[in-house]
Amino acid sequence: MPQRPKLVLVGQLSVFPWVFDAAERAGIDLILVPRGDDTPGSAGRAKSVVELLPLDIEGNPDGALSALADRYRREPFGGIMAGNERVIPFVARAARELGLTGLTEEAAVVVRDKRRMRQRLLEAGLGVPGFVVIKDPDSWTDALTLRFPVVVKPANGHSSFAVVRADDRDSLEQAVACTWKLVEAHLGAADGSDSDAGVLVEEYLDGPEISAESLVYHGQVRVCAVSWKGEMTGPYFEETTLRAPAQLPAEILAAIETEVIGAHHAFGVTEGTTHTELRLVGGVRPVLLEMAARLGGGGNMHHLAHVSSGIDLAAEALRIHLGREPLCWRQEPAPAGHAAVYLVPIGSGGRVRQIRGLDAVRTDPQVDYVVQIAGPGAVLRPYPDWSGNPAIVLSHHASDAEAEAYLDHLARTLHVEYEEQD
Ligand code: ADP
Ligand code: CA
Ligand code: CA
Ligand code: CA
Ligand code: CA
Repeated sequence: MPQRPKLVLVGQLSVFPWVFDAAERAGIDLILVPRGDDTPGSAGRAKSVVELLPLDIEGNPDGALSALADRYRREPFGGIMAGNERVIPFVARAARELGLTGLTEEAAVVVRDKRRMRQRLLEAGLGVPGFVVIKDPDSWTDALTLRFPVVVKPANGHSSFAVVRADDRDSLEQAVACTWKLVEAHLGAADGSDSDAGVLVEEYLDGPEISAESLVYHGQVRVCAVSWKGEMTGPYFEETTLRAPAQLPAEILAAIETEVIGAHHAFGVTEGTTHTELRLVGGVRPVLLEMAARLGGGGNMHHLAHVSSGIDLAAEALRIHLGREPLCWRQEPAPAGHAAVYLVPIGSGGRVRQIRGLDAVRTDPQVDYVVQIAGPGAVLRPYPDWSGNPAIVLSHHASDAEAEAYLDHLARTLHVEYEEQD
């Protein structure tokens, strides 16, 4: 009897169920490397997790790699996949050492660094806003060559943490100082060396934001979903809504695909799944913001593809990391409708008392997943010093208009209530 395939899933937060559920659907067993900050006890509770393998990846990457290799020699596994942004270089290195499918180490470095992504896009002749790399906080004046408004951001950030819009000289100076301080406090040491940390200033891309979830197998890219995130104008960029499929004309969708496929080639991303964010400048011209070489949003972007295209994105990603061809390469799945994602905004921040309205959402038949991340007593910092989404709601609908109306409903009814406010 053939053995069930086994894959090492690195740093996937166990509160996010999507990848665990996908593994179960696909008949894949998981060896989970828990994230250091995961809730003790909850890691490994998912049915698809057959083993826990704690590794100190951030503290001792060499030791973590040799422990992983020891585990492989005891009983080989078929693949390894990253469950969060920070472990991407480690997973690429481990895949190479063990001869498993994954990103090259070079590509892993590129997709972890917005400066390198911008440079590669530029060299490939793809759309890029004017940008300047800031070498130290005093050189903020280097960015005065750009056209205002601009956006100041960490080179190796995520989730819009420390991303700030500046409309003039004074606010640029302040924004660089603010972003720099947050990078030093939260991103500098985390990546091993200070040279990885840094700050980038870009010209503001004026237009609605979209995201694309893709699969890539042996260098062939398939864009599985294009989602509409709407207009976010800053000064901070808290993501709250997505819906798919984005209602866009065929020629704009084609232009998005061209840009996304070109970016995979430019970055050297040849195996796995990606989450790409773009802006439609003037509502028509797609320009990449960035690409993450993993499932977006801790896996919740899987839902957008699964519903809108029928592609079981998370399961297909696991297959690719096992060295297998994704099923949708040969068999066209059937779209199941319109998907919506609502990320409950942090609001003012503080100590959480409760998330008002969430209980009513849990019983709504349109809702597929409700994940509460911040329970009572959790302390949330507001943007730009982000500290996590309070809760996520994933739903499905019969039309885009219904999805939009439901997101509006959630925006009206879901609120984080903080202790000091009441
Ligand atoms: P992160 O890795 O923190 O998500 P992004 O580059 O995606 O970094 O920036 C976060 C958000 O900030 C984006 O989703 C977008 O809304 C906004 N943003 C970033 N850069 C630009 C830009 N050049 N023009 C317009 N908006 C931007
Ligand atoms: Ca990112
Ligand atoms: Ca982003
Ligand atoms: Ca994002
Ligand atoms: Ca339900």
